[in-house]
Order: sequence, then structure tokens, then C-alpha cells
Amino acid sequence: MTYANIIVNISHENLDKSFQYKVPSQLEGTVSVGDYVSIPFGRGNRIINGYVLELTDQPAFDPNKQKAIIEIVKDADLVESKLLKLAAWMKAEYGSTMITALKTVLPIKKNVKKQEKKRIVLAVPTEEAYDSLRTFEKKHQTARARILRELIAERSLDYRLVTSKLNISPATLRLLSEQGILRIESERVYRNAYHETGEEASENGAPSYAKPVLNPEQKQIADAIIEDLKAGSHKSYLIRGITGSGKTEVYMEIIEEVIRGGRQAIVLIPEIALTYQTVLRFYKRFGDRVSTLHSKLSEGERYDQFERARKGEIDVMIGPRSALFTPFANLGLIVIDEEHEGTYKSDSMPKYHAAEVAMKLASLHGASLILGSATPSVSSYYEALHGTHRLFTLDKRAKEAVLPDVEITDLREELKSGNRSIFGRSLRDKIAERLEKEEQIMLFLNRRGYAGFVSCRSCGHVMKCPHCDVSLSEHSGNKLVCHYCGYERPAVSECPECHSKMIGGMRAGTQQIEQQIKKIFPQARVLRMDADTTKTKDSYEQILSSFANREADILVGTQMIVKGHDFPYVTLVGILAADLSLYATDYRSSERTFQLLTQAAGRAGRGERKGEVVIQTYNPEHYSITCAASQDYESFYKEEVAYRELLQYPPCAHLLAILAESPDEELAASYARHLADYLKNDIMGNMIGPADAAVRKISDVFRQVTYIKSQDASELHRIKDKAEQYCTDHPDAKIRITFDFDPLHGY
Ligand code: ADP
Ligand code: ZN
Ligand code: ZN
Repeated sequence: MTYANIIVNISHENLDKSFQYKVPSQLEGTVSVGDYVSIPFGRGNRIINGYVLELTDQPAFDPNKQKAIIEIVKDADLVESKLLKLAAWMKAEYGSTMITALKTVLPIKKNVKKQEKKRIVLAVPTEEAYDSLRTFEKKHQTARARILRELIAERSLDYRLVTSKLNISPATLRLLSEQGILRIESERVYRNAYHETGEEASENGAPSYAKPVLNPEQKQIADAIIEDLKAGSHKSYLIRGITGSGKTEVYMEIIEEVIRGGRQAIVLIPEIALTYQTVLRFYKRFGDRVSTLHSKLSEGERYDQFERARKGEIDVMIGPRSALFTPFANLGLIVIDEEHEGTYKSDSMPKYHAAEVAMKLASLHGASLILGSATPSVSSYYEALHGTHRLFTLDKRAKEAVLPDVEITDLREELKSGNRSIFGRSLRDKIAERLEKEEQIMLFLNRRGYAGFVSCRSCGHVMKCPHCDVSLSEHSGNKLVCHYCGYERPAVSECPECHSKMIGGMRAGTQQIEQQIKKIFPQARVLRMDADTTKTKDSYEQILSSFANREADILVGTQMIVKGHDFPYVTLVGILAADLSLYATDYRSSERTFQLLTQAAGRAGRGERKGEVVIQTYNPEHYSITCAASQDYESFYKEEVAYRELLQYPPCAHLLAILAESPDEELAASYARHLADYLKNDIMGNMIGPADAAVRKISDVFRQVTYIKSQDASELHRIKDKAEQYCTDHPDAKIRITFDFDPLHGY
């Protein structure tokens, strides 16, 4: 006998409210998870519909008292069914409960007040607007000039887009509105006005974009994918194209075709690259039928965006990982741009990778999938070479043909010749030259933006977080901060162990670089971008737009600065200590180094002027550095895959990490040990651990990690299922077990 747990209201907050029904014999074997079925409900046996959430052979209560499913609702090809099927797949694939998987996949309606959407509309004729623009520019009123420039081009803009992405303050908008240059209208008024006057669509936020003619390389890719689309065969593709080679134009060309066919598209972009510039391109091309998701939206606003998608009001959803779960009725295409980004992998349960979920979702909808990157992940490239994705490449920049010149500085040589500064001589000379010419410079520190750990030079004592097994980092304002749990304490002037005064931080953070620059080049205007300076809302975009407006000569930052805006005046990119990320202890450190360096180098010379890049390193021969310097992806890939093959790391083999966490250190260790013993006999590949995780403790929770390697992914799934069974049979409230397939980082 099979029993079905059925959920009746899936927009409800209490997703765990399901009801069990018998699967009658005539339906046995035909009902599956996600199906929309009709059931007799409540005392009066009113007939209602619901979704099958789970099938089980274990009755939750007396089977004699259970009612039976009446039938599967025919022709109910509902998007919810697909999302439920997707959740069921994620549960099985990554290991989590069905409820957690559902909560990941379904938009949950919370009772929140609806915010009225506002729009900004140009209120004066174009000629007059140009006059005002010239005045603002003359007076260096950059914010006013910025908004006016966009309004002249667009006539009307979404209020939120302007305040969040264009960085115009509400005060500025009010002021311009008082001057009668623009009007702020509610969406409703705006929409009505639009219908009444029947104005040209292009005057109202609908498409107003002169799309470029694709070059032959772009066209060949777009044509091939569109041909598949038209033939109704859904496939997956990987486009490897250097930054600026015109991938986004190719996506848009294909999306246009998808929309023409009455279907919808989801475009994933890493949150940090979701800048005004990128989003506006889509708005310009597809008008009001585009929506974006980003972390600044409230839950209610997110829900509204999903509602719009469900009602068919939009065709394109742009956003980070979670935009995958947009409930489009007839999804035709998923694009994952910068697919190598680590943020596409979820770090909470279920620990899914967006590309894998996108594959599954695409197959449920019969949709196509495009992955794009300048530096594809080794895994995706491997899959493409082995036939999973069709591979395309774009090797030239679409607009400017020149790639930057790259020079490598060997820091060991610098040391030998007595230069202890963080700048090699070459970089220092080139900075001076750029300052002279009033061109801009980006300095990239291949590391999170904090000074290294604080240690005592007499006894070696390291200042550590009392709650986590990590060292504290020195921050400005004389404090020490834990980057795992946020713990803070005042800086020390004396070693707590031996009372020596010789205690201090390693000077290698972005703050230190900023200080050095100020010392060497006192005339330079410096902006710094790192975790510290981007804490507040909008600060990220503010720094970038102020640098774009040439309010500074040098931008110093961490990986954050390699994304987003184009800066036509940047002609020099310096990469300081390129190899720091090579010392990370996981198998992907070379890959990450290569990707970061290639992307950072790609920031130079995006305008008419030719760019130069200086990479400073202690490992000038390392292939991830030499290949990044020559922008040679293929050579990097060959070296890297040989290494992974040798050591049997993904993608050449598969890896499952089982993490056991508990506030009780002994319990974590013994539970992990017992679980490992239980699994051992079934493992054909090899098992490493259990052992203390590299970060042994986070927020007072101890962590034990076990790795299992296998050639065969299905073996790892079997082991995961067995481990889940063990946990069900040995419940312990003080233990949490999580699974991570092909983890992107070590534990
Ligand atoms: P990517 O997504 O690969 O970084 P983009 O699509 O953003 O590249 O293109 C880079 C720049 O080149 C953009 O300003 C874009 O408008 C422009 N561009 C792309 N393709 C063409 C083309 N065929 N003709 C003219 N300009 C183009
Ligand atoms: Zn000491
Ligand atoms: Zn901590």
C-alpha cells in the first residue's frame, strides 16, 4: 500500500501542513510527487485539489481511517507541480528534508504591506532637459547629471532602480521634482496614463534600445542555439568568451527568440555583478517585461516579483541563484552568466549548485540552458569536452580589439635587491606615470580585505577567537575581529601570554596598502573597497560610481573590484601578492587563483586607451599565474585537469563531504566515528576521516568532516542515503549532519 502526503495550500507559511491519503489501487504506480490530485477534504468531504508532496509505504495513522485520492487532475501542467518535482529531486540529490527543499524552491507568502511602485518621468521637453544637463555638468553636480542623462535616454525609470542602482538619493529626486524637471508618479497612475494616451511604447519604459548587429562569431553562436530552440530540442551550452566579447548580447538575442515563441527566460548573474549597468541593458531591450531579484528586496517584494511571473506579467527574470525558482509557466531558457562563481553554490541545506538545478529544471520544462564565462569552472569545461554541453568560444572583444599587456614581477627578486615595499619597482613606476597622465589605477589584493593575524614575535602566541578556531584580524579603529562569527575585542599592545610588547598584525590588508600609497604618492586620491567599506547598503555601488566619475585616481580592493562597471580611464591594474589564494588548502585553489587573476587583468584597458597589468608574485612559474598572464584558458585547463586526474579530485572523480556538527566536541567526534564505521563496508572508493575540520570550531560549534571519494557519483548518493538512514535511526538533537557533493571549498 502506498500513502501520499498531500499539501493543499502551497503559498502558505506552514508548508509542513500536509494530509495523508491512500493511493487507491487503480492509481498505484501512476501517482508521482508533484502531481495535482483531487481529494475529499474535511468533515463534509468537500472535493478540493492538492499536490502530492511525498509517497511512502509507512502510514502516518490508522490506514482504515484514511481516505483515498480521487484522481489525478488531468491537463494540470502547473508550474507548482514542476517546482515540487524539483524540490523532490533536490532532496534526493543533495540530502535535506522535503520541507527544507520546499522552502528553498517555493516563494512563501508572508503578510506584508504592499509597497506602491513608483516611477520617475521626465517632465520637460528634451531640448530643455539638455540645457539643464549642461548646467549640472558645468557645476559638477554629478548625481543630477547622471539621472538626467538616463532620463533623456529613457523618458521614465523605475524609482527603486534609480535609488538603488543609480545611486541617486531621494533628496536629489525631490529637488529635481521641485524644479519641475521630473515627476515622481505611482506605478498605477503611470500605467493608467499610459493606457489613456496610448503613447508610443518607447516613451514608457518599453523597449527603446538600438541593438548592435552581432559580429560573425556572436551570430554563429546565437544562430546555432536559436536553431535548436526552433526545432524544439532543448540542450545545454557553454560559452567561453573573454570579458567584453559580447556574451550578453548573444544571450539577449536568444532571449528575444524565446519570448517570441511565447516562453520565458531566467538570467542568473552573481549578486555582486547585478549593477545598474547590467540590469539597465536588459530593461532597455525588453522593457517592462523584465524584473530583477536582489538581496535588497524585502520578502514581500520578492513574493510580488514571483507573483508577477506567475501571472505572466514578465518574460525575463534576472537575479542571483534564487531567481531559478521563478514560477514561470513556460520556461524556455536559463542563462547562467559567470558560471564559475562560487556564489552559485548554496552553503546551506540543501547545498545545491545552481547549474545542476538549472539542468534539472530545464529538463522538466523542456528548456535550454546556457552557461557563460570568461574562465569556465574546470567542472563545466570538463563536462563540455565530454559532451554534456555544447561548447562555443568567443576570443575577441566586441568593441575594442586590444587586450592588455601583462608583466609578472618576481617578488623574491625584489626582496633580494632590497625592496621590502609591497610595490615592486615596476608597479611603482607605472603608478607614478599614470598619476602624471591623470589616468586611473586599480590595485587588487588577492585576499579578503583584512590584515593578517596578530601574533607575538617573542613567544609566537596568536590572537584567536574564543568561539571559533580561527585567528582574529586587525581592523582600523583598534579592534580585532573574527570573520566567522563577528566577535570583536580591543586590539592588544602586550602579549597576553608572555607580556612582550612585540605583538602586532601582518601588514598586508587593503588598509595597509591604502596607507602605503598615501605615503609614497601623497597627491593620489585613493578609494578603498573591501568588506569594511561596503557594509552599508549601497556603499558598493557608491564607491564604484564615484570611481567611474573619476573622483579618485586609485581604487584599492579585494575580489569585489574585479566585477561590475567598466572604467574606460583605468589603464593600469596591479595585482599585489597574486599567490595568496594558492595557499588555500583545497583542491580548487589554483582554479580560483587563475579565475581571479584573469578577471582582474581583464579590467585594464576597457576604453580606447591600451591597458597594462602587473602581477606581483612569489610563484612566477606557477601555471595558474603564467596562464592568467597570457590569458590562456586552454593551457590552464590542461594542467589543472591533469592534476585533478592524478589526485582523483572533481571533476575527474566525485567527492562527498559529510559534516558532523555539535556544541559538544566529544559527541561530534563519536557520532562522526560511528557513522563512518557504519558506512565503511559499503564504500568502494576511499574515505578520509572523520577528522577535525580545517576550521575546527565556528560559533562554539565543533565540526568533524569525513570525505568520501569515488569514480562513481551514484555510489556517493547511495552512501548519502545510507547516512541519512543512520541519522533517522540514531536521532540526536545535539548533532547536525550535512552533506556537500563536490564541495567548492574545504571544511
Ligand atoms: P560580455 O557579456 O562578454 O562581457 P558584452 O555583451 O557586455 O560582453 O559586450 C561588451 C560591450 O561590447 C558592450 O558594451 C556591448 O554593448 C558591446 N557589444 C557587444 N557586441 C557588440 C556588437 N556586435 N557590436 C557592437 N557592440 C557590441
Ligand atoms: Zn608572547
Ligand atoms: Zn568567532
